[in-house]
Amino acid sequence: MSRKDYYEILGVPRNASQEEIKKAYRRLAREYHPDLRPGDKEAEERFKEISEAYEVLSDPEKRAVYDSKGFAGLHDQGYQGFTDVEDIFSAFSDIFEEFLGGFAGFTRRRRAERRPRRGADLSYEVTVNLEDVYFGREIELELERYENCEACGGSGLAPGARAQYCPTCKGRGHVVHTEGFFRLSATCPTCHGAGTFISDPCPQCRGEGRVFRRKKLKVRIPPGIDDGAVIKVAGEGEAGLFGGPPGDLYLRVHVLPHETFERRGKDLYLEVPISVVEAMLGGEVEVPTFEGEIKVKIPRGIQPGDTLAVEEKGLPDVHGGKRGDLILRFKVEIPKDLTKRQEELLQEFAEIEKEKRGNFFKKIWRSVKSS
Ligand SMILES: [Zn+2]
Ligand SMILES: [Zn+2]
Repeated sequence: MSRKDYYEILGVPRNASQEEIKKAYRRLAREYHPDLRPGDKEAEERFKEISEAYEVLSDPEKRAVYDSKGFAGLHDQGYQGFTDVEDIFSAFSDIFEEFLGGFAGFTRRRRAERRPRRGADLSYEVTVNLEDVYFGREIELELERYENCEACGGSGLAPGARAQYCPTCKGRGHVVHTEGFFRLSATCPTCHGAGTFISDPCPQCRGEGRVFRRKKLKVRIPPGIDDGAVIKVAGEGEAGLFGGPPGDLYLRVHVLPHETFERRGKDLYLEVPISVVEAMLGGEVEVPTFEGEIKVKIPRGIQPGDTLAVEEKGLPDVHGGKRGDLILRFKVEIPKDLTKRQEELLQEFAEIEKEKRGNFFKKIWRSVKSS
């Protein structure tokens, strides 16, 4: 794309004086000022173009580079034109304040409102136990956060006071410095980007529009929640600034391990001790659940480590699906102290077993006695 010559853009001769250049820019800037042609994109582009030409030709160092090496020379030094109209007002504030009656240009006047900003998000950690996961639970949190100031309704102004333009940035919220060929834009240090300045701030919040408070909040932990899950509570973060919306609250949930049940997803695992006789003959055991004890029939011939699922006695599904199972893992307990009578019966049992299975049972018998 061929670019127009800076001298041509401003309509000045190559040997124009600084005074002539400034005069030409002032005339053209008035003609194409975006405040006077709202919504006219072409005028805005032209405004940027003349401003770039002025920035280069009004600076002896940049002008010298341009005269000898053209656009490419400027580009090599890191020079960039304008992309943001606000930067132009900031860079040449001396000129714009002169002819638009100070910084209160049309655009600037609209910006006298303090810019609304969304409040920050908050995040907290909460710890619950497995029973809370089974039933769900309402917890009460104590938050420390910024809330809207009731005295001024969030405006930050004392009764009857009005916001004024920030004297440092003239209401723009940012300031521009030129360092050689670079133009740097930074948030205004006086108003922190608000663009306004309050000479008479609200005494409650000292002009901030919000106050720091402790606040209690009840939050429902849904049944079935996973360890490490994050709950979003919309609108319970910090209050916004100057009418901006509040942030959100994020709760990371930690679930403590349980001493009886082991959690695996939706399923609960429970170790159930049974006697050798129960393992061999089957029977009925009482097992604990979070809703009281339940009776479970155990089949005969249980082997150590065998499992049995009790359907839908596990944890609820956090998404409303089918409940998990309670999975019983059997631990067969070998008795250590035998009465004389028990021993006699086992001896007899062993004799029969020996006939059935050779000396297999005798091996077990020996291990019982020696332990
Ligand atoms: Zn206030
Ligand atoms: Zn400022």
